[in-house]
Amino acid sequence: MMDPEQQRRAYLRAMGIDIWLQRGTQEVGAEDAADGQPEAASPATMDWGTLRDCVAGCTRCELSRSRTNTVFGVGNPDADWMIVGEAPGAEEDRRGEPFVGRAGKLLDQMLLAIGQSRDTVFIANILKCRPPNNRDPKPGEAAACRAYLDRQIALVRPRILLAVGRIAAQNLLGTDEPVGRMRGRAHDLDGIPLIVTYHPAYLLRSPSQKHQAWRDLCLAAQLAAGARA
Ligand code: URA
Repeated sequence: MMDPEQQRRAYLRAMGIDIWLQRGTQEVGAEDAADGQPEAASPATMDWGTLRDCVAGCTRCELSRSRTNTVFGVGNPDADWMIVGEAPGAEEDRRGEPFVGRAGKLLDQMLLAIGQSRDTVFIANILKCRPPNNRDPKPGEAAACRAYLDRQIALVRPRILLAVGRIAAQNLLGTDEPVGRMRGRAHDLDGIPLIVTYHPAYLLRSPSQKHQAWRDLCLAAQLAAGARA
């Protein structure tokens, strides 16, 4: 059983409230956690449920103040394919699900074309909260959110990662190369092949580029099949 002080601190932490302690006072340590079980201290060790709860209560950056819902991600936790986008838009923020707006409909069609669906793949974003007016994520916001995405990737362990758009590709790969230069070859993210393609929102504006995106999907499918052998 937790003593009342431990319980108070656990509630405060769960609410995302920083705990201020007098010098010389010890924070509840891993060994003091509930039921003597080690506490899940960082996303890197969390299971799906804990990670989901942690994201839902996250206050790591200022976007927590303007969001309606966090957008955790959706799909098959054992997926072969993991799709990573940029950040929730207005509709995603409202519904708490990634890629449900116009761009999402196109992503669904792209997935269908390779024999996948939003139930067979796992879809997540660089950011779990919507940036106001759909502005680009700030580097600090992406950094604050990164541990959640890293843990999702580690839990899914997909055969192929598909980064859709510049923000996803640049953040995942830690580069500022343009999408055009990152496309057409396999990158590596901690041993997982990663393919870069255009964001469906861009493809809606530039439908003539859809055939390039199709090539990217074919390359990704090849790599996913190769990884299965
Ligand atoms: N665009 C993204 O990158 N992600 C979403 O979830 C929706 C639109």
